[in-house]
Amino acid sequence: MFESLSERLEGAFKQLKGEGRISDINVASTVKEIRRALVDADVNYKIAKEFTDRVKDKALGEKVITAISPGQLMVKIVKDELVSLMGNTEVEVDLKPNPTIILIAGLQGSGKTTFSGKLANFLKTKKAKKPLLVAGDIYRPAAIDQLQVLGSQIGVEVYSEPENKNAVEIAQNAIKQAKANGNNVIIIDTAGRLAVDEVMMTEVANIKAAVNPQEILFVVDSMTGQDAVNTAKAFNDRLDFSGVVLTKLDGDTRGGAALTIKYTVNKPIKFVSMGEKLDTLDVFYPERMAQRILG
Ligand code: GDP
Repeated sequence: MFESLSERLEGAFKQLKGEGRISDINVASTVKEIRRALVDADVNYKIAKEFTDRVKDKALGEKVITAISPGQLMVKIVKDELVSLMGNTEVEVDLKPNPTIILIAGLQGSGKTTFSGKLANFLKTKKAKKPLLVAGDIYRPAAIDQLQVLGSQIGVEVYSEPENKNAVEIAQNAIKQAKANGNNVIIIDTAGRLAVDEVMMTEVANIKAAVNPQEILFVVDSMTGQDAVNTAKAFNDRLDFSGVVLTKLDGDTRGGAALTIKYTVNKPIKFVSMGEKLDTLDVFYPERMAQRILG
């Protein structure tokens, strides 16, 4: 993950090796290289520029500390800025209401159904919850089967109505069943399209209005870089979601989505998904992610 960005940043810090102190000249060239590395990692230019302007100001504003080299100082400043860009602290899912209703939204293929299974497994095994998975994708019969298979693998019930073409009704009926069965978390997997479209948005917005979920998690494929960020913007404008799930971080992803989604939509990344196995769901920790990027 983010190998290229990590290498490039390391290269930028190396420019300061042997320098006795931070100066206008050595900071300018280091910062320029950091900016290029961010842009090549698919960070939007404006965000990269603001980032490196802050890094530069901080570096030049530092008092001379003899115990720490300019290179180490720069690593620390960049790390703090990366953590801040990604949201500072982790943000947990609100599980207090009983039942807690979690709506899952995103484009087709982003990893919604896989994530729904991972989340159900996480809540069951780590939070001692009794989740109900709801198959809300009314357009792809295979999506119901996929959720059934995931549910049986993790021992979580799945609610579906294969004949019903009204996703709002399915969600409402699922909640009734969950209440009757004592399920304390309801995870509603919704239909996705290959691109943002009005029908999909209206449908998810209608489900939101009907069931009033505590959490709306927007699932996005991190491999899609700035497209991921633009899609996040479109979904957030319509749904005002509560958190982001970044998937496929196990792939060859460059970093742009992870670094800039929080900044762009001002919603926290809550989980990351790094594989197809159901036990690999991770809470997103900005600090750990920044550390990973800096190696
Ligand atoms: P949906 O259409 O949004 O429900 O997406 P799916 O959950 O069906 O996932 C689409 C494809 O991506 C499937 O082949 C999944 O196995 C795969 N996938 C989902 N999450 C991840 C992940 O975190 N890492 C990897 N490598 N593949 C994933």
